[in-house]
Amino acid sequence: MIIVMNQDAKHEEIEKVLMLIQKLGLEFSILKNEDKTVILTQPSYDINSEIFKSLPKVEYVVSLNEDFKLVYKNINNLETKIKVGDVTIGGKDLTVIAGPCSIESKEQLFRIANHLKKSGIKIIRAGAFKFRTSPYSFQGLGYKGLELLKELKEETGLMVISEILDHHDINEFEKVVDIIQIGARNMHNINLLKAVGEAHLPVLLKRSYSATLKEFLFSAEYILMGGNKNVILCERGIRTFSDFTRNTLDISIVPAIKQRTHLPVIVDPSHATGKRDLVIPVSLAAIAAGADGLIVEVHHEPDLAYSDSEQAIRLEQFDYLLARAKKVAEAVGRKL
Ligand code: PEP
Ligand code: MN
Repeated sequence: MIIVMNQDAKHEEIEKVLMLIQKLGLEFSILKNEDKTVILTQPSYDINSEIFKSLPKVEYVVSLNEDFKLVYKNINNLETKIKVGDVTIGGKDLTVIAGPCSIESKEQLFRIANHLKKSGIKIIRAGAFKFRTSPYSFQGLGYKGLELLKELKEETGLMVISEILDHHDINEFEKVVDIIQIGARNMHNINLLKAVGEAHLPVLLKRSYSATLKEFLFSAEYILMGGNKNVILCERGIRTFSDFTRNTLDISIVPAIKQRTHLPVIVDPSHATGKRDLVIPVSLAAIAAGADGLIVEVHHEPDLAYSDSEQAIRLEQFDYLLARAKKVAEAVGRKL
């Protein structure tokens, strides 16, 4: 069990937890994680962790779970911090990834990316291969798009994330991108998960719009099993009866993931809402709920975007989002 105490837990409150652990005859050790006290007990499957949850100033308890040997927090890893160039995803710092849904042309990609670079963004999102619901919709520039991403990196020094659709393309992606994205529609694609599990790049795994928490974490487990420990989870909205947004952002999965796993979790407010005017407030809520970052769709001419035009925010809206997000981050003890 891993028992995480509130950061303002007093000595007596910590002692109460330790007394119960001793009463149960468990061995334990204590460590500090950032400013919190964390108590680790020896593995025990027969003790119900619920009895600790009601003690004062216990923030949360992670019990052992044989289903998730790799993604759950463990004694050696309470929090994975993923290094992408000079950016760290996870930990105290927040990461904002932004860019167009699809790469449409060199001019479009560079125009948006150059603006974002000036705003301090280091990782650009841009789809080369698009998994579109309608076969008549724009399907992406494919390998030509990857070439444009390569040029963008060389000319601007920016880092890029892009979605892979086919496990045969792993080598091509490894040559260009800094983070491989697995889209919501491919969260259950075991071959793809296994392939990126062997890749030498961090993976952003998006939650399928119908996946339970367990199914989502099992998909992450597949990637970690391949040896790739650098997995970022992404909540991007699920299907519900609510029809005024494209999907419904499951905000509570953010703390639920943070409590159980050591992996960073970010939120995609664009696909979660599908509406430009909801992207900023939902982004702020995600940060307040403990997300480690955002991935946001931005376009210089949203109404003309080849895909997801209704949810792309304009360049100046993005700068406003950043300014607001900085304040919320500060309020919850994070840094942007
Ligand atoms: C995207 O990021 O453009 C995308 C298609 O997202 P999702 O897989 O979450 O639908
Ligand atoms: Mn999109």
